[in-house]
Parts: sequence; C-alpha cells; structure tokens
Amino acid sequence: MKNVLVLNCGSSSVKYELMNVENSRVLARGLVEKIGMEDAVVNHHYLKGEDYSDVKLVKNILTHREGIRIVVGLLTDAEVGVVGDLADIYGIGHRVVHGGEAYTDPAYVTQEVKDDIKKCIELAPLHNPHHLAGIEACDSLIPDHHQVVVFDTAFHQTMPKKAYIYGLPYEMYKKYGIRRYGFHGTSHQYVAQKAAQIYKKRITDLKIISCHLGNGASVCAIKDGKSIDTSMGFTPLPGLVMGTRTGDIDPYIVLYLMNKDALSFAEVNTLLNRHSGLYGLSGISRDFRQIIKEVKKGDERARLAVDIFVYRIKHYIGAYTAIMNGLDILVFTAGIGENSIELREMVCSNMEYLGINLDEKKNREFNSQEAVISKDDSEIKVMCIPTNEELLIATETARVIDGMKKS
Ligand code: AMP
Repeated sequence: MKNVLVLNCGSSSVKYELMNVENSRVLARGLVEKIGMEDAVVNHHYLKGEDYSDVKLVKNILTHREGIRIVVGLLTDAEVGVVGDLADIYGIGHRVVHGGEAYTDPAYVTQEVKDDIKKCIELAPLHNPHHLAGIEACDSLIPDHHQVVVFDTAFHQTMPKKAYIYGLPYEMYKKYGIRRYGFHGTSHQYVAQKAAQIYKKRITDLKIISCHLGNGASVCAIKDGKSIDTSMGFTPLPGLVMGTRTGDIDPYIVLYLMNKDALSFAEVNTLLNRHSGLYGLSGISRDFRQIIKEVKKGDERARLAVDIFVYRIKHYIGAYTAIMNGLDILVFTAGIGENSIELREMVCSNMEYLGINLDEKKNREFNSQEAVISKDDSEIKVMCIPTNEELLIATETARVIDGMKKS
C-alpha cells in the first residue's frame, strides 16, 4: 500500500493527512494548533473500520518537531492509529509556498532543495521557515523516509515573461527577483485536471479559468494544461479583494499614506494584509457567510464589499478569456467558490455575451461533489469542483519517489 503523509506546516500549526494514493482513501487527517503554547490542541480524525472517529488532545507543544512527533505517534498508535508501523508510510509530501524560479515541478528533498527553500524565505517569510521546520523535523524523527516538496508557485512557472515581469526597471527583476510568482498553484492545477476529466477532453486541448475563492483568493488562466497568468503576484496580496487583503491597488496609495499618516512599515503591512479586503470594506467580518447575512438585512457596506469582490472576479474572467482567445471551462473552488450559491450566481450573471449560461437549479443543488452547473447549451461549461490540494500533493509525492527509485 502506498500511504503518503501530507504535511502543511504553518506558523503555529501542522495540518496533516495520511492517504493511500492507490485508492485516494484518507486514512487519517488532523490539525495541530497553537504550537508554541502550553495548551496546544491536536484534533485527530481517523478511519476505524468503515467510519471515521475523532480524538482530541490538549498538550504542551512548543515546536513543530514536537507536534510532528505526536502526529507520527497517533498514526501508529494501537488505539487511534491507522498503520501498523512507520514502514507502512511510503513517503512524506510537504506543501511549500515558495520555490522561487528554480522549481517548475515537485522535488525530492535533498540538502540543495532545503537550501533553496531557505533562500526563498525572503520572498515568503510567513510560510517558508515553518515548512523548513517541518522538513527538518521529519529528517530527525523519521530519517529513513523519503520526502518530497510540492511548491505553490511551481504550477505558475510556465507563465510567459510578458505575464510575470512588472513595469519596473528590469534590474529590479535581475537583482531582487521581483516578478509575479503566483500562488494557490496546487489548487489551480488540481481543479483544472479534474475539469478536463469531467469534460472528457485532454487538458492540453482546453482553455480553463480557475477561480480559487477562499479567505485568500486568486484566478488563474490555464491554456493547454499550463498556467499562463494568475492574479496573485510577487506576494499573495494583489488581484482579487480577499478576506482581509486589498487585492489590486494603485501602489502610490502606500506612499501617500506613509506620508499623510506617517505609517511605518509594520503599520502599512497590517493595513494591506489584515485590515483590508472584505473585512475593511464591510467593517463587519472577513467571513463571506457573515457578510452575505448582512447584505440580506440591507447593510450597504456589506453590499459594496460583495459587489467589489464579484466585479473583480468578472474583470479577471474577461481579461483571461481575452489573452487565451476563448474559454472552454470556468471553475469555482475553495470555501466561497464551493459553498456560495449567491456568489456563483452573481459572477455568472450578465455573462451571456461571453457564452456563460448558468443553470440556476444545478447551481442551487450543487452538493459538494464536482459538477457542471451551467445549462446544457452553455458555450462555456461552468463547474464547481471541491479543491483537494492534499490529494495532488500525495500523488505527486508518490510519483517522485517512484521515479527516484527507478533511476
Ligand atoms: P477557505 O479559505 O477556502 O477555507 O474559505 C473560507 C471562506 O469560505 C470564508 O470566507 C467563509 O465564509 C467561506 N465559506 C465557507 N462556507 C461557506 C458557505 N456555506 N457559504 C458562503 N461562504 C462560505
């Protein structure tokens, strides 16, 4: 059995999933939260017979290494474990946000790969250090296991230069690597592959726009199976309005505010990343459900926040249809994309000119299984596909390990 352990290490958390890649069955998944605190929490969800059970631990967990040690213990535990021993785990796949320009594909973990991830800390200071901590924890806890890293940025490395270079002096790119990198690559890649399967065509013959709409949100243009443009950039800040992030703004606004209100670097950072977006616009919440509730009660700022969110999505759909010279499939995914009937309706309204014709009934009846939600005669197929980054990371991890063993 090829069981792959997928790890996603955040600043104070480790999200994990153990999956049999031969049948895509999840054997266990869970989350270690509040790492660094005495009352850290582990929620472990495991397969017992045909059903899943839960166990919750509250413990002093000060490091990622300790968190992962507990996860490995739970997976092999006599009571709540799902594998006999560690030899039943084929390999470990790590989600890594930033791989810079060096990685267009997942990579087998070596010292060189770890050094490259370290070099990218400058570009993803909130993510890469914790991914590295997770890899190093596995190095010492389970040193005989193969490890693979799957980068969020890798899928977008196929973008042409005209899509990723900014209108700054070219030296800024050469000197500092300032360019569009794009994020959510694993999710865009997964849903695009699924969409092609549902459409029963080769992905290399399709033009797809994928809308990953969660707390973080981005749109991606995928032509012939390759990302050719995406709305996030040098950082995950630009593009769509997000839960708390601005999305696209005129960069001069930052200089203006620094001058006007004497804002420091830290204050500007907080303003752009934490106080803006749906939260800053509505003044209510970053949570889309909450905002929609207030829209229904007649709150005008909530309405404005939703209108801007929808407007920007339409804006990118139009732009990406133009650069691809057409569109076959529009995909909605992630928390808002998968769950908000209203959002999908708003985005697809008045898009008949483009060839988008949503089926209201199918849209309303969508129930978490991937589905086509456009009318049968809609020129462009609209699909709702739950994202599954873990599945893609697990299968890619197994593929890389298989290749490594053969060579
Ligand atoms: P994610 O980052 O993918 O977990 O998505 C989080 C976002 O999805 C939040 O804004 C949630 O409000 C939103 N979301 C989750 N469930 C629903 C739902 N049933 N209807 C509308 N939005 C939802």
